[in-house]
Amino acid sequence: MTDMVVHEYRRGRLSRLALDLLEKRGVSHGFTLRYGGVSRGAFASLNFTSRQGDDPERVRENWRRLEEAAALPSRRWALVSQIHGAVVVRAAAGAACHHRLDCPPADAIVTSRRGVTLGILTADCLPVIVASADGAAAGVAHAGWKGTLEGVAVRALESLGGGDPAGAAAGLGPAIGACCYQVGDEVYEAFREKWGAGFVRKVFKRSEPWRLDLQKANAVQLIEAGLKTGNIGVVPLCTCCRKDLFFSHRRDGERTGRMLAYACVSSAGAAD
Ligand SMILES: [Zn+2]
Repeated sequence: MTDMVVHEYRRGRLSRLALDLLEKRGVSHGFTLRYGGVSRGAFASLNFTSRQGDDPERVRENWRRLEEAAALPSRRWALVSQIHGAVVVRAAAGAACHHRLDCPPADAIVTSRRGVTLGILTADCLPVIVASADGAAAGVAHAGWKGTLEGVAVRALESLGGGDPAGAAAGLGPAIGACCYQVGDEVYEAFREKWGAGFVRKVFKRSEPWRLDLQKANAVQLIEAGLKTGNIGVVPLCTCCRKDLFFSHRRDGERTGRMLAYACVSSAGAAD
């Protein structure tokens, strides 16, 4: 697996985390950091939702700043109303739903259309970006433990089309790490029942209580689905440990912001 590269945008005050193996396939993407926005207090400063109590005007300005800094088409977002499942939807043409109102209930979204940016919001859950071998199709997935249990990243990968998954790529963004992600016996048992004893040996750390490695779990699932290990990129940072960089639901409770993972097919992508 390969590691991240930090890119500064040419305009504005924002930075993103990005992965070379997605860039090489022509997929413009980023995992946002919490600074460079206008939100205050618990939401300081680059927060992408008003659902937890942030001022909607400030949230709108944060979206605008990202669009400007990353040179993304204004208000051409395809988002989903995330429900911790494994349903994948295709981005509709001209999608524009900034605050997840009227967004379809799903946890992954794929497209081969240029000019539409896919987005997933997280604050500990794992954001996964997948791309076909030729970069003509891309997807984003929201993988907390429930979505991971249901195999949401593999579903997104399969929805890209394009045949052999061996040349496809996946980027695993910042998420709560095994250092901090304690889960109960019921979570361990659910994974053992569905994915087997070998799987849980790889992805749970034996302790009291269990600790789950979300990135490892999704990587193992993607490799079992046919992805090559060398085509998986990982941002090796824990959202709960790194208060300077990320919002964290586990660390800060309900009243905290959300980061955005986004992706769009660009020059190499085919229009449809
Ligand atoms: Zn941690």
